[in-house]
Amino acid sequence: MGAQSSTFPERIRIAVSACLLGERVRYDGEEKRHPLIIKLADKFVLQPFCPEVAIGLGVPRAPVQLVATSAGIRARGVTNPEHDITDRLQAYAQLQCEELQACAGLIFKSRSPSCGLGSTPLFDERDKQMGQTNGLFAAVLRDCLPGLPMVEESALATEAEIAAFVERVLK
Ligand code: SF4
Repeated sequence: MGAQSSTFPERIRIAVSACLLGERVRYDGEEKRHPLIIKLADKFVLQPFCPEVAIGLGVPRAPVQLVATSAGIRARGVTNPEHDITDRLQAYAQLQCEELQACAGLIFKSRSPSCGLGSTPLFDERDKQMGQTNGLFAAVLRDCLPGLPMVEESALATEAEIAAFVERVLK
């Protein structure tokens, strides 16, 4: 998906959390359209991904949050801790390591338990926030594709920040 430019070769792809491109894939059935990111379609092929939909969760769906447990960080239902999608998310992310290595960069939705890159709230088992971390999907990709430019949408709030990311992508 995404427009192609005569200036940039078609092969230059940036993978983007689908909700940022206006796809209604969020847990609440909404999207988080980001005009500056969408504008990148003038120059690059924007390839949408939504790991939660890809592992078979519906839209809308019950929200999950990251919880630090004795078994590591788990993605569990906010109202139902038995609803644990950790293993499915991580297995899917491992599969995507190969697929997404063809991209020149990745843009993630901030604060998401799947897609956040450093901004995702992390809770203890008593539901108290204890810090911030990576979403589980983003964490796997960061580890398996360490050379790929990756950024959260919250770090692309200005034209200057977009230009700096594009520069990293084109290096
Ligand atoms: S943040 Fe990630 S998992 Fe959540 S709706 Fe957007 S693309 Fe899907």
